[in-house]
Amino acid sequence: MKYFQPDFELKHFTEITAEWLKTNNIKTILSDLDSTLAIHHQPGGQDVEEWVTMLKENGVELAIVSNNSQGRVDRFSEPLGIHGLGRSGKPAIRKIERYMQKMGAKKETSLFLGDQLFTDVWCGKRLNMKTALVHPVGEEHEPWNIRLKRVFERLIRRRW
Ligand SMILES: [Mg+2]
Repeated sequence: MKYFQPDFELKHFTEITAEWLKTNNIKTILSDLDSTLAIHHQPGGQDVEEWVTMLKENGVELAIVSNNSQGRVDRFSEPLGIHGLGRSGKPAIRKIERYMQKMGAKKETSLFLGDQLFTDVWCGKRLNMKTALVHPVGEEHEPWNIRLKRVFERLIRRRW
């Protein structure tokens, strides 16, 4: 089950620091939204704001890639001065590849960040990018279907 194993496992997105980005040669981050950067249905907190500022200062581009609606993505992204793709179709990669082309992002220097193995990590792997799995924020607020997926994720992770 190595196929699903991410390159990095993080407790929180703020573990991605300027130093970390430099060490791993990351210039672009494609990030999931819900449970990765914010709790479901909620805007980003001050930690997101500070993190986005750090990315901008270091010339790292961040784009949201979510299977949630474009409205949700825009409401989250606009106050932060970033952009993103809603209804991205993860783990399918067609829409995301097109979006990356528009951004001018290179796979070799891109990171896919997310909290779910079967959508985010798998998607990043299929895109031939580095992948980081993050511990879900606000796990207790997650919808039941996502909680069910966590059970399968734990089964697979036990075999690493
Ligand atoms: Mg998520």
